[in-house]
Amino acid sequence: MRLYVVCHNRSHARIYISSTAQIRSQLPYVFELQCPLCGNRDVYHNREVLAEEEPTKVPVGAILGGILGAVIAGPIGALGGAILAGGVGAGADNADRQAVERFNSS
Ligand SMILES: [Zn+2]
Repeated sequence: MRLYVVCHNRSHARIYISSTAQIRSQLPYVFELQCPLCGNRDVYHNREVLAEEEPTKVPVGAILGGILGAVIAGPIGALGGAILAGGVGAGADNADRQAVERFNSS
């Protein structure tokens, strides 16, 4: 999950916030941000913050699992490792989606 606000200025760029907040109330009520695109500095309210899922990426565990399977048990092991890792990856995506929904409804 990552958090952003939309720039108040004409650029309407997404300004990503570096925060570990899981719900809206964990953010400051108001805070100042500078848009990286247009340079506009303005005050934003935590009600304006939106969460979105992280861009899809292959989890590190999936790669390591696949390689480990290939080394130990050959092609069959590699296949098993890939399926297992795929399941883990899907679970992580689902957890991220739930975190996004929790934040956006908070
Ligand atoms: Zn801007």
